[in-house]
Formats: sequence, C-alpha cells, structure tokens
Amino acid sequence: TGQGFVGESSSSGIVSVEDLVRNAAKPHPGLAAFRQGLPVYQSRKEIVETVREHQITVISGATGCGKTTQVPQFLLDDFWARGEHCNIVCTQPRRISAIGVSERVAKERGENVGTGKVGYQIRLERRANEHTRMLFCTTGLLLRRLQVDPSLDDVTHIILDEVHERSIDSDFLIVILRDLLARRKDLRVVLMSATLDADMFAKYFETAFESKVPVLHIPGRTFPVEALYLEDAVEATGCTDLSAEGSSGSRRRKPPQRRARRSRVDDGESAAAESDLQQQQYVALKRSLERDGMYSSGTVRAVLENFNEEEIPLQLVGQLLTHIDEAHPMDESEGHAVLIFLPGWEDIRKLHDQLEFLNASHHRWALFPLHGAMGTAQQRGIFAPPPAGKRKVILATNIAESSITIDDVSFVIDSCKHKEKTYDPVANISCLLPTWVSRASALQRRGRAGRVRAGKCWHLVPRLHVEDNFAEHALPEMVRTPLEELCLQVRALEVAPKRKGGLLWFLNRALTPPAEQSLVNAIDLLNRIGALTREDEALTALGRCLATLPVGPQIGKSLIMGCVLGCLEPILTLTAILSQRTIFVAPLQSKEAADKAKAAFANGYPSDHMAMLNAYMQWEDAEKYRQGKDFAWRNFLNHNQLLMARDIREQYLTLLRDARLVSAGHGSNAIDARLNRNANEWAVVKACLLAGLYPHVGRLDIKRRRALIFIKGLPTVKAHPGSVNAKTQGAEWQHRWVAFHDKVMTAGGVFLYDTSEVSPLPIVMFGEAALEDEGVTKVDGSFMVTVQNKTAQEKRIIKLQDWVYFGCED
Ligand code: ADP
Ligand code: MG
Repeated sequence: TGQGFVGESSSSGIVSVEDLVRNAAKPHPGLAAFRQGLPVYQSRKEIVETVREHQITVISGATGCGKTTQVPQFLLDDFWARGEHCNIVCTQPRRISAIGVSERVAKERGENVGTGKVGYQIRLERRANEHTRMLFCTTGLLLRRLQVDPSLDDVTHIILDEVHERSIDSDFLIVILRDLLARRKDLRVVLMSATLDADMFAKYFETAFESKVPVLHIPGRTFPVEALYLEDAVEATGCTDLSAEGSSGSRRRKPPQRRARRSRVDDGESAAAESDLQQQQYVALKRSLERDGMYSSGTVRAVLENFNEEEIPLQLVGQLLTHIDEAHPMDESEGHAVLIFLPGWEDIRKLHDQLEFLNASHHRWALFPLHGAMGTAQQRGIFAPPPAGKRKVILATNIAESSITIDDVSFVIDSCKHKEKTYDPVANISCLLPTWVSRASALQRRGRAGRVRAGKCWHLVPRLHVEDNFAEHALPEMVRTPLEELCLQVRALEVAPKRKGGLLWFLNRALTPPAEQSLVNAIDLLNRIGALTREDEALTALGRCLATLPVGPQIGKSLIMGCVLGCLEPILTLTAILSQRTIFVAPLQSKEAADKAKAAFANGYPSDHMAMLNAYMQWEDAEKYRQGKDFAWRNFLNHNQLLMARDIREQYLTLLRDARLVSAGHGSNAIDARLNRNANEWAVVKACLLAGLYPHVGRLDIKRRRALIFIKGLPTVKAHPGSVNAKTQGAEWQHRWVAFHDKVMTAGGVFLYDTSEVSPLPIVMFGEAALEDEGVTKVDGSFMVTVQNKTAQEKRIIKLQDWVYFGCED
C-alpha cells in the first residue's frame, strides 16, 4: 500500500523519551485483575525467558487460556521494562480475528487501536502507525509483506497464532521462517496452537537446527461442558422434524444417503458397498439407541428415520433455542449466549430467517450472524453486549471455533459440518462441499461453551455417527487444495532454487508435503496461462503481476486483461460475481420461472456470464432507488449475494490501484474512461474473461441435440442444469468453443458451471495450448489445421490475420 508495515521509523533500537511517555498509557483498571486471572498469566515468566533464550518456542494451551491476547503483551512489556526496542508481528488466520484481537488488546492496555502501540493490518485496511509495536495481521498479509521486505529486518518477534488450523498460508510461512531464522539469528519466532499435538511443530524445527525446541503447555481452566447429541436434542425438545425447511409433520422416508465427501464418480460397486455400510450403521445405531434405554421410542424412531446426512436440522435448532430459554432462563449471572456452528453463509442466512420469524412473536433473541466474508464493521457487533433482557444468539461458521472468543457463551449447537475445499489431483478437480468436521474440531467447538460456567453442547448427529464417521484430525489445507497461488508466491518470494524442479524441492520441505501430482498440475496451469516459463519455472511479467494480486491467478488474469483491453467495469463485475456463490436463485418449486428470468438476462446469448452481467447492472440501477431487494426478488436473484459482489468489486478495484494497474482515485466513478473504452464490446469482454478462465475451455459437439462438451482427459460433460446453456441445442451455437468457470464432479457426473460460447480468435490469442490439444500445430507463426471435408482430411494453413480480418470457421 506504500504505507509502512510496523514502526519502521525507529529501527535503531533506541527508545525515545516520547515513546516512553506513550508507553505510560493507563491500562484498563477493570481488566488488570481479569488478565492476571487467565491461566497463561501463571506461565508469564517462563514464556518471557524461554523466548529470550530460544529462537523458536512452541506454546500450546486450550482455547481461552489467554495465548492470543496475552503472550504478545508479555513479550512487549518485558522489552519495555528493559528499555529495549521491539516490534512484534502476530499473525491471525482471518481478517476478523486480526481486528477483534487488536481491539481487545488495545482495550486491555487502555489505548485505541492504531494510535498507541497496538495496531492491525489486513488486506485493504490498516490501523497502525510508526509507533505501533504490536501488529496483528493476517498470515496472508505477512506473506505479501515478505515479497517486498524479505528479511523483515525491523521485526524482532513473529508470533504465528492458531498454527493447529494448518491453513496453507500458515504452513507456507512456517517453511519460510525456518529458513529466515538461519539468516536472522536475532529473530524470535513463537508458534501458538490450541491443541496438544504441538510437538510436531517443534520436531519440524529441531530437524533443521539440530537443537531442542522448547514446547510450553499452558494448563487450561475451563468449566465442564456436557456433550449431547442428536438423540438428546430430540428427547429434550420433542421435535421429530429433522429437516432444514420443515416437512409439515409428514414423516417422509429419505432416499438412500450418500456421503457428501466423495468427489470421484461412484461406480456401481462402491455404491453397493456404501449401502451395505449404511445398513450396518443403521443396525448399530438402532442397537445403541435402544441399549441406552435413555430415549423414548419416539426419539429412537425419529433419529433412525429422519437423520439425513445431507441436511442440517434447522427446525430442531429453533426448538432447541426455545428449550434453552425454558430450561435456563436469563438472570443476572453471566453466560447466557448461544453459539451455533453452521457450514456456510447459505445456512446462516436460512437459519437466520427462520429464527427471525420465531423471534417476531417473542423478541427474546438478539441474533448475530458471523461469517468471514461479512463487512468488518458488521462483524464488530458480535463483541458488544446484547440489548438488555435479550439472549445473544450467534450464527457462525468455524471462524468461531478457536480464533475468536465471544463473551458469555454457555450453549453451543453444533451442526458438525464445515465447508471444506477438497482437491482431487488425479482428476484435477476441486470441490467445496459441506463435510463432517474432525473429532478434534467437534471437541474444540464444544469447549466454547465452558468459558464462564459449566455449559452444554448439542452435536446434531447421532453419537455413534461421530464415533464411526468422523476423522481424528482435519487434513492440512496444503494437501487438499490446488497449488497455483502458492507456486506463484514461492517464486515471487524467491525462496526456492531458480531452476526447474525448484518448486518441488521447496514444497517437499513443508510440514505435510502435497502430492506431487498436485504440483505438476499447478505448474502446468501456470505454464499454460503464461505466468511461469516452461524451461526454468521462472515468473514471467504476467506471473509477477499476478503474484502481487491477492486473488487466484484466473481471477487475477481476467482483471489484468480487463485493464489492458479497456473493459474494466464489466470485468470487475464478472470477477466479483465469479469469486463467490451464484447470484441466481433456483427454488425447486419455481425452477422454470427462475430459468426463464435467467435466460431473459442472457438476452439470447449462449452465455451465463452475459446473464450475470446484465442481472448485476439492472439490479444496481434498481438499487440506486432502493429497489434492489424488490428487483432481486422478482427476478430470482439473491440480493445479499449481489450486495456482497458489490463489496468485492470495490475491493478488487482497490487491489488494482495498489498494483498500479488503475490510477488512484476514489470509488468506481473515478475510473479513467480509457480503461472502459471497450466496456460495451461483448466480444472484448468475453476475450478478457476467456483469458482468465483458460484453460477452462472445451469443445462443443454440435451434432448432438443437447450441448455436450469435450474436455481433454475427461468423459463428455454437460452444462450445469442451472445454466442458460443447459438446454441449448448444439446447432444454436455459432462457435464451437466453450469457456467455463469451473467443472465439478457430482454423483450425477461432471458438470460445468457458468459457461459461455466463445469464438476461436480469443482462443488463438490467449489459449493457444487449447489448440495444441485439438491437433492444431503452429508453423512459422501460422496455424496448421486439419479439415475434414467430404472425401478426405486436408491440411490447411491459417494465418492469424485471417482470423482477425475475415473471421474464420471454427
Ligand atoms: P486463547 O488465544 O488462548 O484462546 P485469548 O487470548 O483469545 O485466548 O482469550 C483469553 C480470554 O480473554 C478469553 O477467555 C476471554 O475471556 C477474553 N477475551 C478475549 N477476547 C475478548 C474480547 N474481544 N472481548 C472480551 N473478552 C475477550
Ligand atoms: Mg487464540
């Protein structure tokens, strides 16, 4: 951002009088005793001394014991007491925790964030100045900072928080720091983990340094939390409706359930094996429910018949809240809040609507959604006390699992699901699906109920299901995610040998190295989009530019091309929409009407992207007159998703300004007109889009009635049923090339999300390798194609100019 990182001005190591005066800020009187009561306070001296004597220290301790808020302060206070200079950077896994923690720490110290010694910095937002000595930032931000400041000379301590989450950024940073520590003997690194398996981190550093890495375990001090399961929730509430939407009392028999986790296409054999397994589980479940004899026969029947792996029993959640209200009425004491864990924004919204409906009659609840993609101002509300007499009810994703501590929670309702990205390197397909959490996560979630007094936690699955189906620990993100972005960063940070194979060498040194095939796929993609050279895996000019943008390379390339080719506005809109969930809603009851509305937006073009663009523009017009919500409702659009797209759009614009691809100025009104000179040229917009989507292109089989699409290495695929192209007849397409946003493997086969027909010229310009796949070869800068005419195959040479000036058959 051009602004400094941590107090760079006084790196001399000498503390000024001014600084000393500033340090004399009055700590919050009420919180001093609170801080001293935290379990971590007992280990204060040990922590300070260990960090002073060792380059690297690992600290583990139960959530809530005070690691995040206290350890940085212990270190800072120790340095100030000795009159020494220090600059602490503490990384957090998410934006919201960086803000929340810095505000809390500042409050404990009696100062304001950004003006005293405590500050935060996240993507596009910074509250810190040259006096900041304790900076909370996201892990991703520190990684980007390393691009311009590779040895972090001004930083004395780096604290990596929540390393147990094993995010790809955190695992990556750990490799980098291990190398950096060898060069910077004065640097201190502290790893903090909420789980007990912290020894693994110590070993990782020990093998490199051949010296012992101290591990400090902070004893927890939490109240007991009763573990309750689906059967207990049904028993307590008498609610036998285990559906999400409410099944109006009729007890329907669910279709055989499938595991959401599998991404591969099932063959008949595994399906049979699966149903065998289900049968066994059913019997076991029945036996365990009956054996306990704790549950009424109605409960046993409800759980056995209605438990559905795919659906979250949102109806039951509402009933449980009512049960909590009755069994644990609000009084003067602490600890009335309820924390509900859900997999994602959709479910949060759905439940929020249902609870609002119930709340409308009794007004007992103060509802707070909490999700990583929410605006930061919105997120802050959850830390405030609820209005008098109301029960705080927080609807959160796994963001509240360990990094954020919300006051007052004594009840947890856990859907036991989270959204997890998985990646199948063999099929080169990724999925984002709600999956069961690990047992470690379930335990962590439960622990959130025991902070101020004994609590209760309902896991909304049968007890036996947890024991049989939940993994012990989650897989590290690095082994279940595509590696393109990571590879770009490794190159931009210059931390791997500059030769072919350098990336593999680097990633093999990670805590849990990813599968080699994942890396091969990532390098291949980066070669194809022109971000890495084939000879030595070095960054090209485009690659360098992509590495500075904190978005995936495909979104990034579209944005860059949008600037270069003068269609910034439409590309901003499209990329913002493509980076999140769909803006189109397709209710089952009125799918036909919804499809029609979407087709109307596409305006006759075989393009989902055209539909998105028009839908957004018309919604935005309506929103200017505060009619957006109504417009969305009438046209089967998701108003919230559109609002979020508008936010992301502004964020992307700021990123482009940061990267100096767009000149400075504020808001989209200030965009230089030249950057939009082609904004109304659909062909150019599509070309920018294709440049980013590539290599997500396929060839259409126009002889068929339903559009079938060929992609190299996959069986024939179809456009997703929600696409405007789902029913397009092959012959209606002008061109035979299709660009698509993503391909997703489901139980019903492979589907393409968001497809657009494209003409061959942009493929020639930006997706040349796709031509190679089609048997087109290049001869002296022209293309040699094989044409099948009536009698024989014929080779023809086509010059690029032919395409440009005369157009050309596909
Ligand atoms: P850990 O990192 O070990 O999980 P924290 O340092 O985050 O623990 O929190 C220690 C304690 O400080 C919590 O148990 C909670 O009581 C209190 N706390 C932390 N953050 C806040 C906040 N934003 N508002 C109020 N209390 C907080
Ligand atoms: Mg913490």
